[in-house]
Amino acid sequence: MQLSEDHRAVQDAVRAYVQGEIAPHAARWDKEAHFPAAELKGLAALGCYGVAVPTEWDGAGLDYLALAVILEEIAAGDGATSTVVSVNNCPVCSIMMAWANDAQKAQWLRPLARGDMLGAFCLTEPHVGSQADGLKTTAVRVSDSECDGYVLNGVKQFITSGKNGDVAIVMAVTDKAAGKRGISTFLVPTHAPGYIVARIEDKMGQHASDTAQILFENCRIPAANLLGEEGQGLKIALSGLEGGRIGIAAQSVGMARAAFEAALQYAKERVAFGKPIFEHQAVQFRLGEMAMQIEAARQLIHHAASLKDAGVPCLKEAAMAKLFASEMAERVCSAAIQVFGGYGYVSDFPVERIYRDVRVCQIYEGTSDVQKILIGRALA
Ligand SMILES: Cc1cc2nc3c(=O)[nH]c(=O)nc-3n(C[C@H](O)[C@H](O)[C@H](O)COP(=O)(O)OP(=O)(O)OC[C@H]3O[C@@H](n4cnc5c(N)ncnc54)[C@H](O)[C@@H]3O)c2cc1C
Repeated sequence: MQLSEDHRAVQDAVRAYVQGEIAPHAARWDKEAHFPAAELKGLAALGCYGVAVPTEWDGAGLDYLALAVILEEIAAGDGATSTVVSVNNCPVCSIMMAWANDAQKAQWLRPLARGDMLGAFCLTEPHVGSQADGLKTTAVRVSDSECDGYVLNGVKQFITSGKNGDVAIVMAVTDKAAGKRGISTFLVPTHAPGYIVARIEDKMGQHASDTAQILFENCRIPAANLLGEEGQGLKIALSGLEGGRIGIAAQSVGMARAAFEAALQYAKERVAFGKPIFEHQAVQFRLGEMAMQIEAARQLIHHAASLKDAGVPCLKEAAMAKLFASEMAERVCSAAIQVFGGYGYVSDFPVERIYRDVRVCQIYEGTSDVQKILIGRALA
């Protein structure tokens, strides 16, 4: 499908910024685990923080197709930066739009959509990721001289922007006996006493994005920070994942595209057996296959995003896009390394980093197995 002129204009603006200010530094940021705060502000100024948030709440007032286009562009410059922006949009801003009351939107959504704040999403715990209803973190209602609100205790695992974020959407158990219906969602400022960054994970890739283990130790928050109603937590958490999966799929395509473009350029320059390796049919076939796979994934993503924009439920299509794009991206990035030969395996060229960065796309926001379960259920 063709992008509209408006979507192309957004694409051009973000691409110019990313290729000028982000891509040239991605390798260094990865080596130094540098969080690109200044460049994230630049992306925020372009409307990348709250892409699908209406302008009345300080968002860019665009749609999910624009979000997919934007995340592809950011990921083509740096996968880690795209993860930070992706989480802020979906699930954080999308959940706020759907579930927050006007006071909560004024206090949290506006700055999140403008980029004055950065959001995190705390669902996963050390013992449960795929099975989101097995949470152990608790939120107990208290009303005493110190606090009219909730006291949170527990551990959250693998939280993107858990350290650098300003506010976290946290799922916790308020009624153990109610099972899935006993989970609630809270807005927790990361400076709240008892919000403790216990550790930063030493990851395979995406080093510029912090992935934190968060300890909630008698963390007190006001009752006004309950999102939706008690017991709606799981529904709220899952509601953010449809758009989130479109976002991860778009990141996958962006990283695959960057690896492909680097490989294509290299193939036209590297000479073996008297001619550029691009002119050896095996290499050209490999690049052709890569280009086709990237385009196929992009079309699945744009289809799912267009359904979401039209208000059509697209759980299956978002899962298909995420599954296909993330698995495609690993294959394409591996093929890019092959095109580079030995130079693909060292960090002088970007494909080594991109291969490490893209691997997690098959894991976060639901593993590939979970996407298959979702697609299978939709077929039943
Ligand atoms: C870099 C990074 C960033 C992340 N960011 C966030 C974040 O911001 N917020 C957040 O809440 N979480 C985040 N996560 C967590 C991520 O979403 C989980 O890791 C993911 O959902 C998988 O959960 P798990 O690691 O517990 O794996 P598990 O659920 O233990 O799964 C382990 C394996 O078993 C398979 N499996 C599990 N159940 C089934 C089943 N029923 N059928 C078939 N196979 C199954 C899985 O597919 C997987 O291969 C992040 C993770 C990483 C690595």
